[in-house]
Amino acid sequence: MASRLCRQVQANLVAQASMDKSDKSPVTVADFGAQAVVTHILRGAFPDIPLVGEEDAAALREPANRELAEQVVAHVGEAVPGLGFGDVLDLIDAGTHGGGASGRFWTLDPIDGTKGFLRLDQYAVALALIEDGEVILGVLGCPNLSLAASEADGERGCLFAAVKGEGAFQRSLAGGEEVGVHVTEVAATQEANFCESVEAAHSSQSDSARVAERLGITADPFRIDSQCKYGAVSRGDASIYLRLPTRKDYEEKIWDHAAGSIVVSEAGGRVTDVMGRDLDFSRGRTLADNSGVIVTNGRLHEPVVAAVREVLGV
Ligand code: AMP
Ligand code: MG
Repeated sequence: MASRLCRQVQANLVAQASMDKSDKSPVTVADFGAQAVVTHILRGAFPDIPLVGEEDAAALREPANRELAEQVVAHVGEAVPGLGFGDVLDLIDAGTHGGGASGRFWTLDPIDGTKGFLRLDQYAVALALIEDGEVILGVLGCPNLSLAASEADGERGCLFAAVKGEGAFQRSLAGGEEVGVHVTEVAATQEANFCESVEAAHSSQSDSARVAERLGITADPFRIDSQCKYGAVSRGDASIYLRLPTRKDYEEKIWDHAAGSIVVSEAGGRVTDVMGRDLDFSRGRTLADNSGVIVTNGRLHEPVVAAVREVLGV
């Protein structure tokens, strides 16, 4: 439902539908609307599990943004009839949990890859369930991703889902059968291809080029926004995903990695930071003890981590 809401907003994306957050990243009607829809459904089904959500409604409550807030409420109303203005804003404000090492909580990125969304390119709705610091379930809605990488003009809209110990699956957002997804079996780095962010501010593309050179990778990087990169590795479109720090003080957000990481690990791959450490989802809203992210098909993990450490000097 959230993916469908995003699609609708994207279909009539207009200038008024975007504004700047204090960190200058664009945020749209769809971010807020998707967070309201997912929160509403989770609350009904699991009233006691708290949520770590990316968005809150503070900006929407400002009188200057009343028109934007009304657009959010209208889109949410199409998906979930009967919710009033105050209900929708309260739902968006329900994602303030701090995360941590004990108990269960959800983490949601209602639109991961907002910049891709605004470019009418790739983005993802990403939801994961974390229990005692470990991701145990993840779902990625990828409304613009082709069902098969080999058929770029084919049907678009994928849903990836993984439960710990049960494998990873993909199906069409339009419905239909789930199919298991698996990482590539590429065992030589020279034969691998890698993906990375479109946004150079999110991942150092100059460092990844040096890593690729060191590994003998000749294929051009495959650049797509959002956790669609995890989906791409999980089904073998790429064997490696590099997210190399652009600044020392940046802490990755848990909602940017929780769902994607379980989809890849259940598809047979590996996910660590640039030092080869497991991602630690028990440290609150950020991956405070990690730096960058390296995702591979597993077989390539050690050589890729070694090359990254050499290039970064860490
Ligand atoms: P991507 O689409 O993979 O480039 O990632 C989008 C995500 O990058 C957003 O959800 C942001 O939370 C995150 N982001 C913002 N700034 C940075 C940064 N300096 N380094 C890494 N990730 C960032
Ligand atoms: Mg995000």
